[in-house]
This record gives sequence, C-alpha cells and structure tokens, in this order.
Amino acid sequence: MINLVWYRSDLRTIDCEPLMKAAESGRTVHACFLVCLEQWKRHDWGSNRAEYLRRNLVDLSRRLEELRIPLHIRDAGTFADVPRVLGELVDDLGIQAVHWGCEYEANERDRDVQVRKRLEEMGVGVTEHHDQVLLDPDGPRTGAGGGYKVFTPYRKATLQSLQEIREGDPVRCRPPARKDMPAEPDPVPEHFDGFRDFVDLDPWPIGEEAAITQLDRFLADGVDAYDLNRDLPGVRGTSRLGPSLAVGTLSPWTCFQAARDGRIPGAECGGRDTWISELIWREFYRHVLVHHAHVGRGRNFDARKNGVEWRDDEAGFQAWCSGTTGIPIVDAAMRCLVATGWMHNRLRMVVSQFLSKNLLIDWRKGEAFFARHLVDLDFASNNGGWQWSSSTGTDAAPYFRVFNPVRQGQKHDPSGEFVVQWIPELASIPGPDRHDPWRKHGLLLSGMDYPEPIVCLSSSRKRAIDCFRDAIQSASQEA
Ligand code: FAD
Repeated sequence: MINLVWYRSDLRTIDCEPLMKAAESGRTVHACFLVCLEQWKRHDWGSNRAEYLRRNLVDLSRRLEELRIPLHIRDAGTFADVPRVLGELVDDLGIQAVHWGCEYEANERDRDVQVRKRLEEMGVGVTEHHDQVLLDPDGPRTGAGGGYKVFTPYRKATLQSLQEIREGDPVRCRPPARKDMPAEPDPVPEHFDGFRDFVDLDPWPIGEEAAITQLDRFLADGVDAYDLNRDLPGVRGTSRLGPSLAVGTLSPWTCFQAARDGRIPGAECGGRDTWISELIWREFYRHVLVHHAHVGRGRNFDARKNGVEWRDDEAGFQAWCSGTTGIPIVDAAMRCLVATGWMHNRLRMVVSQFLSKNLLIDWRKGEAFFARHLVDLDFASNNGGWQWSSSTGTDAAPYFRVFNPVRQGQKHDPSGEFVVQWIPELASIPGPDRHDPWRKHGLLLSGMDYPEPIVCLSSSRKRAIDCFRDAIQSASQEA
C-alpha cells in the first residue's frame, strides 16, 4: 500500500493527522504540495503570505526528508486544474490512498469535491482529516441543531467538548523515520512568480521547530499576562503565532494542550483562558464558513445589511491604505501593516471600523487590502474579523457600536509611543495629545507634513448609524 499526503495549509510533520494516518503500519508514504499561483492571485494573496508559505515549504521538505518521505511539488495554476494534476501524480507514483487535512473555504471545498470524485473514479481511497481545528466544525450545534451564530455560546459548547476529549492524547509526535526513501524530493522553487515583493520575514518563525520554540517561550513568559497586555499595541503582549497557525506549521492542538497544561480550560479567567478563547475565535470563524457558506463567497453574514449603501470614495480609501487619514492611530496601524505585513488585533478592529463605519466604504475592499499585506492571512479569520467590525457579521452588539479611534488610541496607546514609531512627524507633540493632535496643536502641525482628519468622527458616525438603520428597516419591510 502506497499512501500520499497532500499538504495544503498544514505544513508540518509534528501532530499532523494526515501524515500519522498515512504512515500507519509502516506504509510507504509520499507527500505533495500543489503551487496554485493563479488561484492565490484570485484570492488576493500578497507576496508576504506567499513567500512566507514558500519558506515554510522548504523547511517541510527537509523535515520530511528526515522521515524518508519525498515531497513532490507540482504547478496547478487554479483549483480547476487540481483534479487533473493530482490524478496524474497519483497515477505516476502508483498511489492507493490519499490523505489530506480539510480546508473550509468555499472554493477549497468545491475543489476537494472534484478531487475526491476524480480519485474515486481511479479507484484511489481518500481520507479527509479535521486537523486544522480542535473540533470538527460540523460538531458544536445549538439546542435546535443548527450552527452557532454567536461566539459566547459557541465558546461555552466548545470548551465543554474540549474537556471531554483528547485529554491524554499525545501531541508533538510524528511518525518514525523509514529506512529508505522511495524517491528524491523535488526542489522547492527559489521564488513564486508574481510574488517577489515582500517585507522582511525574519521576525517570523520558519518551520515547525521554530514555531514550537516560539509557543514555548510565549507560554513561559507571556501567556499569564496575556489578558492584561493583549490590547496594547506598544507592548509585545501576544504570541505572534498567527503566521505559523495560518500555514499550519503549528497545530491548534499543540497550542491548546500546551496552554491548558493539564488544567480544565475555562475554569479560570486568567491569561491562559483568555488565550484559549482566542484560539476558539479562530475555530468559530471556520465553523461559520461551514454552516453559513455564503460568507465564503463575498456575501454578508447578516443579509439584513445587504441594503447598506457603501460610499464610492476612492480618495478616502487611498488615504486609509497609505496611512494618511489624519487620525493618528489609524495611520500608524496602516503604515505598520504595509511596512511589516502585520497589525495588532486591537488595531485591526480600529482600522476596519474606521473604514466601514466612518468612511462607510465596503468592508470587502478592506478585506482584500489586508489579504494582500498580512503575513498571517487566513481567509476565515480575515473575513470574520472584517464582517464583525462592519456589523455585517457575527458581532452580537448592534450596528450602532462604532469605535471612536481617538479614544481607542488614548486608551490602548496612552503614551502615544506606538503612534510616534510610525508617524515620527508627531514626535514633538506631548504624549497624551498625539491621538488628537489638531485639537490643541494646530499651529505646530501646520508646518508639518501630517494631514488634517479626512472625516469628522461624530458626523460620520451618525451617517453610518442612519445608513445601517435604513437598510435594516427596508429589509424588515420587505420580509
Ligand atoms: P494571539 O493574540 O496570540 O492569539 C493566538 C491565536 O489565536 C492567533 O494567532 C490566531 O490564530 C487566533 N486568534 C486570535 N485572535 C483572533 C480573532 N479575533 N479571530 C480569529 N482568530 C484569532 N487573524 C488571522 O490569523 N488571520 C487574518 O487574516 C486575520 N485578519 C483579521 C482581520 C480583522 C479585521 C480583524 C479584526 C482580525 C483579524 N484576525 C486575523 C484576528 C487577529 O487579529 C489575529 O489572529 C491576531 O492579531 C494575531 O496575533 P497573534 O498571533 O499574536 O495572536
């Protein structure tokens, strides 16, 4: 029996269920990865995400080589080409069974249906594993049997299930190395065409060992104060493991088991439980993709908001993208994203609300811009975060929650240090005033190259609320 592991967003050998199952009983195992450049472009991937994936692929190939498993790399253009390309590889290698970890996005699910069909027609077995998540997203159900729409009850149900299962399961394990390798691995491309213009990726862990080292360091030094520090962009208070989780060099089980450390998760409210809750947010947005598949096709989670009349404001959008809106916390966050490929979670919430509420620009434009820049791009979390912020998604609070970015800045960056790191123009403004510099320091600013705010925060807030209210009213009249 010769098995194939098809790697997608799970680039690891440690705690990798498809690999463990494929290698059971000492079977011969091959591995493959399909490069889908055209599809990645259609999905708005940027060079940061693609190059980060490529570097992790190099590491995966080495780890597999240690296990005497060759990694085959094939070009597949778009997902439509995948059934043929994979079918040919399976044929060439004489594969009898293929294992892969499930992906939950709409196009990925459509692709997998076609691949399964093709392989089954060839008489090849297919086993899919829910390895990107703690629980099968089809699992947690409401009392009425549907999928959850709200995070808090979903979290409760998930924690309950987590207490019951896999308590003693070993993680951080990988299959034993074979004695011989059935074929040579393919070289990983030196670069991906069309994805060459990337940021400095040195700050991010490459490969599974580096990701685990970063996890262990965070659990030793950072997690206990996570609940206190996680909202402060000027402090390194979060794990920065998003990129590793996005390409799957780190499994959520490895994170969860290490964080709970033998305790009952959810029993306390300290840093560990708060961090575990964030892992469950990641889980929740995958659950939403499965149960509300329309969100994966660019549609609002909440159809009552379909009538919101987004503004066509290219100048406003460009100011947001380039960090020149005149709202310091928004501008600092956007400049940080473009320069580093990363943005703090609190700031992702602030800038996404500013775009979708104060500027009233369609959240899909912001989602695509984030996709082009984030190293940790993850469709489910990006889409979920954007829809949450723009009140078209799962936020349980009503649409009239509109963050005031000035107050957000004053609260979470009280000294203005984060702002000045990215907007040195404001260095001469006293710390607490940096979030609202025009109010007291107009004269000083008039000689500087920093713009005045492009919108009035209070009137744009009212405009957004009116617009959402109108959309909801007309949706309820039509119903
Ligand atoms: P930590 O705070 O240490 O949390 C650990 C892990 O939990 C994260 O790495 C991530 O996998 C998960 N997580 C944490 N917060 C969230 C959350 N709110 N939603 C879902 N998962 C979460 N996260 C992505 O991984 N990829 C994205 O493309 C992405 N886009 C976002 C867009 C918007 C508009 C918003 C508001 C949030 C987005 N997030 C995204 C969620 C969150 O901002 C990042 O996961 C977090 O900033 C990553 O930092 P960290 O690795 O230090 O996480």
